[in-house]
Amino acid sequence: MSTDFEPSEYISRLQRASEFSAAEGIAALLVTPGPDLRYLTGYHAHPLERLTCLVVPADGPVKLVVPELEVGTAQASPIGALDIELVTWQETEDPYALTAKVLGEPGHGARMAVDDRMWAVKAIELRRAMPEAEQLAAGVVLSELRMRKSEAEVTALIYAGEAIDRVHAQVPQWLRVGRTENEVARDIADAISQEHETVDFVIVASGPNGSSPHHMASDRVLAQGDVVVVDIGGTTSVGYCSDSTRTYALGEPDPSFLADYAVLVEAQAKACESVAPGMTCEEIDAVARNILADAQLDEFFIHRTGHGIGLETHEEPYIVSGNQRRLEPGMAFSVEPGFYRAGEVGSRIEDIVVCGVDGPIMCNKRPHELIVVE
Ligand code: ZN
Ligand code: ZN
Ligand code: ZN
Repeated sequence: MSTDFEPSEYISRLQRASEFSAAEGIAALLVTPGPDLRYLTGYHAHPLERLTCLVVPADGPVKLVVPELEVGTAQASPIGALDIELVTWQETEDPYALTAKVLGEPGHGARMAVDDRMWAVKAIELRRAMPEAEQLAAGVVLSELRMRKSEAEVTALIYAGEAIDRVHAQVPQWLRVGRTENEVARDIADAISQEHETVDFVIVASGPNGSSPHHMASDRVLAQGDVVVVDIGGTTSVGYCSDSTRTYALGEPDPSFLADYAVLVEAQAKACESVAPGMTCEEIDAVARNILADAQLDEFFIHRTGHGIGLETHEEPYIVSGNQRRLEPGMAFSVEPGFYRAGEVGSRIEDIVVCGVDGPIMCNKRPHELIVVE
């Protein structure tokens, strides 16, 4: 897959951002480096103290306020192929006053939506520069756009899924009695970086550590009979994230664990199968939770069933009780039920699923059965 999308993809995202803003009564979106900027323009810049700010008015041309010294990198990004005017500032200028000027000095009550990940200090400076304007979080527009993936984004998520599947396929060779979780995690991290641009996280949770869902890796030495939860993810060159969990065992675990694990396999599969347009997020959560409840395992399922994924590993929509949002084609999220017996053992199975027109599109295709390493 090429390292970026066609300019037309960004042009349509920017257009929809303006349209959604207009519908929300927002005068402009102000977007600093981070996932929203990458979403709208493909410009992958890291947030620094100097202000770079994309100005997307509900009506009018898109502009990028950018420090003079960053112009080269901005133009080398997909922004160079988009019709975006660069408004540059020198080291001694006030970029916030410049941004206010670009916006035509917003008057009383003009609604300025700042990206959800903007540094607080930048939001405060923008408020200072536009004292009459009202500030709100741009998630009301940008989360709504980002949670509905385009065809190109779905392709990117499937590609990320294939990348992490290739890593999971290699995990059994690294799980050996006598090695530490950290040693295994280093091998996995190397493999993730072969398949992705960045390694985002590596969870190797063995034995009792498996009962802590966000345990990362430690110096615990793997022992015969351990169940090992391996939850791993990275970001591909085009910016989309992978996230997949499989549960492994060093030798055959005891029958009561195997019985519980069989219920988990069913709960995860049924929740994936139930993904379809019109289903609510909480209904998907309930499918998994009810199956675990029938086996008295629900009290050990201590987190939501899933989270949206795209340019960030965790984004909307969240698959959780109380979320009545209805699924639409293009929504992408994890389905990752688990059970955690404190201080004893844990297990989890996680796939990324896209809601397709007729049902689920599975981004991860590795088998769900417990992978027993002898
Ligand atoms: Zn980065
Ligand atoms: Zn996840
Ligand atoms: Zn995960």
